[in-house]
Amino acid sequence: MAAWTNWSGFVRAAPQRSVNPGTEAEIVAAVRDGPAPVRVAGTGHSFTPIVESNGSLLSLDGIAGVVRTDANAQTATVRAGSKIHALGRPLYDAGLALKNQGDIDRQAIAGAVGTGTHGTGPTLGSLSSEVTAFRLVSASGEVLECSAQANADVWSAGRVSFGSLGVMSEITMSARSIYKLRERNWLMPAAVCWHELAKLRDAHRHFEFFWFPYADDVVAKSLDETDDEAPAPKTSEHMRLRGERVTNDQRLFNLGCTIAKFLPSLSPALQRMFTRAAMGTSDRVRWSHEAFPSPRNVKFNEMEYAVPAANGADCIQEIAEAVRNKKIATCFPLEFRFVKADDIWLSPFYKRDAVTISVHQFAGQDFTTLFDTAEAIFKRYGGRPHWGKMHTLGAREFEALYPKWDDYRALRRKLDPTGRFLNSHLRHVFGESDG
Ligand SMILES: Cc1cc2nc3c(=O)[nH]c(=O)nc-3n(C[C@H](O)[C@H](O)[C@H](O)COP(=O)(O)OP(=O)(O)OC[C@H]3O[C@@H](n4cnc5c(N)ncnc54)[C@H](O)[C@@H]3O)c2cc1C
Repeated sequence: MAAWTNWSGFVRAAPQRSVNPGTEAEIVAAVRDGPAPVRVAGTGHSFTPIVESNGSLLSLDGIAGVVRTDANAQTATVRAGSKIHALGRPLYDAGLALKNQGDIDRQAIAGAVGTGTHGTGPTLGSLSSEVTAFRLVSASGEVLECSAQANADVWSAGRVSFGSLGVMSEITMSARSIYKLRERNWLMPAAVCWHELAKLRDAHRHFEFFWFPYADDVVAKSLDETDDEAPAPKTSEHMRLRGERVTNDQRLFNLGCTIAKFLPSLSPALQRMFTRAAMGTSDRVRWSHEAFPSPRNVKFNEMEYAVPAANGADCIQEIAEAVRNKKIATCFPLEFRFVKADDIWLSPFYKRDAVTISVHQFAGQDFTTLFDTAEAIFKRYGGRPHWGKMHTLGAREFEALYPKWDDYRALRRKLDPTGRFLNSHLRHVFGESDG
């Protein structure tokens, strides 16, 4: 019985059986014959207990790598356990790149797809929205080929399904030809940010900002396509190591967060200091898969909701005001990003252009007041939570948020009638009683 914890250390599991399949047939055997609940771990970067299992826990680390690329169709088929950082270089060598990525590249591709992981850009959807096909091992051990043409309902629902419909063994992503991005970071008074937001959003392929709520300025970041020179692309091993590196900036940030945890009244002063220090490296050009991710090695827990795009600025200002009014101790910034609507049944972006707002708390520091305060505001804005990030919602609330909720539940029951894939968190989410 090997113990398992998620990235932040908040979720722990003691599965009866830990399985490391090396082939799809071994996934089938583990799903069909292993003790329930059967859950799959990507790299444990989710904050909610969606991986947790006291039955079987599968790791697909051994099911990794590019299966094939198609330069004409601009697609890449990869094994589900592939880490995102291990995909950039082989795809680059095939002339292809993902259209967008999130803040980090540590996740397994199936783990990232499973929760609707996204980057920023008003014309760009989540990683899940770029999935054109996948192979899914269902509860009975049957392997389903899913795409818009085959098992279309499972494809429509399964692109954001966090292992509740089955285990993905292979994923085909829509990609594009390789491209370079210029990164810029700058400080901007928050008031200017609200005034210019629509312009900033439309002027950049990727625009986002971070806001320490006790500071007057936001830290803005843009990424734009360029033909300018970029350093030669790194190896996959270099990219793996790059994401694990703890920089001096991160050491200082960790120290500041630790001080604020014990002396919470210092949070405002530290936040203002971090804002000035957050300028980091500005104006540099890199190949896309190297430009998107940044090392994030100061551990935290996180809540994120997607709210209708038009209300994003009001929502984040309310949250920041509430943090200041309640004098909540926290040293992390709020993060604000744009995501294009999609048609995936349980995607937070289902038929709705959205803004995502993330609220972080230093790992080991109490997040109750911060997250409760933010969640009450998110709910008023009709927000939908990120499936991998903290929330307190259950089936009743999800039913009101997702027009396809009942269809999803019916499909899930059809594919997994005895609930082999449901742990207690997912039973709560889907309103299913204990099996
Ligand atoms: C530092 C940090 C930065 C982050 N940045 C972003 C960001 O920029 N944007 C964003 O949207 N999110 C972000 N996240 C959240 C993260 O991307 C998601 O929680 C993602 O799901 C984690 O991927 P993972 O590989 O760790 O999967 P896990 O957390 O291990 O698993 C996620 C879900 O996928 C399921 N799963 C995994 N593999 C399979 C499979 N083969 N078949 C079926 N189901 C499977 C798991 O059972 C689980 O339900 C961040 C998280 C952290 C800790």
